Amino acid sequence: MVRSTISSCIALILSASALAAAPTEFHASEKAVKLAKENLLIDTHIDVPYRLVDKWDDVTKATEGGDFDYPRAVAGGLNAPFMSIYIPAQLEKEGKGKSYLLANQLIDGMEAIAYRAPNKFAMAYSTNDIEKQFKAGIISIAMGMENGSPIEGELKNLHHFYDRGVRYITLAHSQSNHISDSSYDLRRQWKGLSPFGKELVVEMNNVGMLIDVSHISDAAFYQVMELSKVPVIASHSSLRKYTPGFERNMDDEMLKALKKNGGVIQINFGSSFVTSNANSWYDQRDEAQKEAEAKGENRTDFRAAYLKRNPFPFASLEQVLDHIDHVVKLIGIDHVGIGSDYDGVGDSLPIGLKDVSSYPNLVQGLLDRNYSEEDIKKILGGNTMRVWKAAEQYAATH
Ligand SMILES: [Zn+2]
Repeated sequence: MVRSTISSCIALILSASALAAAPTEFHASEKAVKLAKENLLIDTHIDVPYRLVDKWDDVTKATEGGDFDYPRAVAGGLNAPFMSIYIPAQLEKEGKGKSYLLANQLIDGMEAIAYRAPNKFAMAYSTNDIEKQFKAGIISIAMGMENGSPIEGELKNLHHFYDRGVRYITLAHSQSNHISDSSYDLRRQWKGLSPFGKELVVEMNNVGMLIDVSHISDAAFYQVMELSKVPVIASHSSLRKYTPGFERNMDDEMLKALKKNGGVIQINFGSSFVTSNANSWYDQRDEAQKEAEAKGENRTDFRAAYLKRNPFPFASLEQVLDHIDHVVKLIGIDHVGIGSDYDGVGDSLPIGLKDVSSYPNLVQGLLDRNYSEEDIKKILGGNTMRVWKAAEQYAATH
């Protein structure tokens, strides 16, 4: 994981693909399975669209690889994944039109899934769609755009992507773009949001497009807090408390600001977001790799040998629950949700949370920590629905 340069959830797929999958040894109780299946379960960040660009698969049926497919989503009780329209940061630099084109193609891909299997999937453009389709037993495909680069400096493109069904935009990804600085990019060209970024935030409120503060720099986050009239989401972030120095996660002061804003942080399951050990494993390996490559060693061979010498320190389900607990203790039960980053963080997922069939394990963990059913409902989907409804209501009156 090369955080300061090209790092991304997606980049991690490449670097983590050699990690050995650990066995899943969790058994959720009947009660936990029932809670996951009978309540609305929204995951605000799943990277199926770009996974299918890398290697096409029919996720309306069981697939061999990947973290998401229809049968596993049903087993896990997942009702509404926000599919990530992920645009690599370097495309913006390759010239106008490229980010816009890819975003449209990835949206086409999601529509294709819904059209191919209308008894299993349907596109969701509103909280009303989500509720209707949940009752009908159909999985909703909602869309969030990861990287605002396809806006390409024109508010009309915001309207275009809203019309195509995108309902949140992560302002930047692994590099500073024309909208905002990125937590991974040390250049900080805008010292937060660009002048256009500030204009865009206002217009996103007006059209009902949720603002996603994951990936952006701290300065950009606080500027969004000042500007946004609507609660925001952090669609797939975890806590800096457990990963000190990792700006991609949120610290306690930011959580307090998020509470004031009324927003929700959806916790990322990727091990490197959950523990410092896993986070620094990548740094250390990449450091060693640079030296090895300078000596002419082959990257693939080096990585295999390195992994053998230094087994990857997978985070645990309990450690993911610690993140949820801390948010609840600090700012309350109304501000936390699920943003797993499935299909975006390679094989680095915690034991017990390996794919979309695993949500009942998370519910079991919450039950074991004495969360009430009402609280669990909020975490699974209620909080995200509240924020989305607030965005819809604001847009309806502006
Ligand atoms: Zn991401």
